[in-house]
Amino acid sequence: MPDIETRKVIIIGSGPAAHTAAIYAGRAELSPLLFEGFMAGGVAAGGQLTTTTEIENFPGFPEPIGGPDLMVKMREQSIRYGTEVKTETVTSVSLSSRPFTVTSDSGDFKTGALIIATGATAKRLGMKGEQEYWQKGISACAVCDGALPVFRNKPLVVIGGGDTACEEASYLSKFGSTVTLLVRRNVLRASQSMQNRVQSNGKIHILWETEALEALGEQFLTGVRVIDKKSNKEKTIEASGLFYAIGHTPNTEFLAGQLKTDPDGYLITQPNSTKTEIPGVFACGDVRDKVFRQAVTAAGTGCMAALEAERFLASLE
Ligand code: FAD
Ligand code: NDP
Repeated sequence: MPDIETRKVIIIGSGPAAHTAAIYAGRAELSPLLFEGFMAGGVAAGGQLTTTTEIENFPGFPEPIGGPDLMVKMREQSIRYGTEVKTETVTSVSLSSRPFTVTSDSGDFKTGALIIATGATAKRLGMKGEQEYWQKGISACAVCDGALPVFRNKPLVVIGGGDTACEEASYLSKFGSTVTLLVRRNVLRASQSMQNRVQSNGKIHILWETEALEALGEQFLTGVRVIDKKSNKEKTIEASGLFYAIGHTPNTEFLAGQLKTDPDGYLITQPNSTKTEIPGVFACGDVRDKVFRQAVTAAGTGCMAALEAERFLASLE
């Protein structure tokens, strides 16, 4: 039987968290191996930013940079400082003893420290017209896209009734002419303070027990066909922007319950740290963050994970 390759650090993921961890671990001469995935969680290698167009809020780029271009640059920087990248999805891990075992299609790998940066995938409705107008009016991130000129002083729609939907509706009310919040039940799931914010905002109008059926438009989105479930009547709402806020799914299936998660499935880390409950296993980026969910915050925790992994390995020597 061939020997199993053993590494100091393995990183799983390929978004800003994984690549920042890789750059730091590479520069610390830990020769990291990074599994970037192959359409893992339905997202291309490079992560969620590969699904968007222009990024205007990542520091260092005074001109907007394309999401895929930014991720190509991060990948190049990881490789430049000594990271080996495998375009494979990790199918399982064994965390019961160190070195940990990481399994992908090409076999098993052992590692002294493991950094999990597998991100989260925004849920979609799968309604008619969604694919056609995705990033042509439809977005899964209001904080990322809401300030774009195409949405300024235009009617906007948000779907969802949780904290994210309320937060995004409030944020969008600064830019849009009106914001319509489509809520599928007759109550909001959001915290009371978030509900108060939305309900006291004159620009936000809530449509209760209403579901979206179809995205309409020509070259770009112009409206949404909805159904009022109380009356069973359909109507079209004018909309230049449609923002999904119906939750995210953290990509943790391959862990098979070996690490603690919160009720929404996000990995739990110690306060001000990326340490999980298993010494030597670290989690960074959106897989552990359901509040901020930004490229720069993912990158920040990626840096923390690499520094903590380096200190952990040093403490064993
Ligand atoms: P992700 O970017 O989610 O990447 C994780 C990667 O890991 C994915 O490629 C996935 O395929 C891979 N993976 C998952 N499981 C496995 C596995 N088992 N094996 C191997 N690989 C695996 N943020 C901003 O700051 N500015 C913006 O303008 C902005 N725009 C956005 C627009 C959209 C449409 C979306 C959806 C998000 C946007 N965001 C933006 C948010 C930002 O993309 C995320 O916060 C950030 O990408 C999270 O980074 P991450 O490294 O945690 O993981
Ligand atoms: P949630 O899962 O809390 O809410 C999702 C919302 O989308 C729910 O109202 C749900 O409706 C609705 N929804 C789900 N699927 C559909 C669908 N197919 N059609 C229509 N509506 C749908 O996700 P969030 O992202 O809002 O929040 C996730 C977690 O992050 C929560 O714990 C939240 O508290 C936290 N958070 C905290 C923030 C803060 O403190 N500032 C900011 C953002 C998030 P229904 O209610 O009927 O199930």
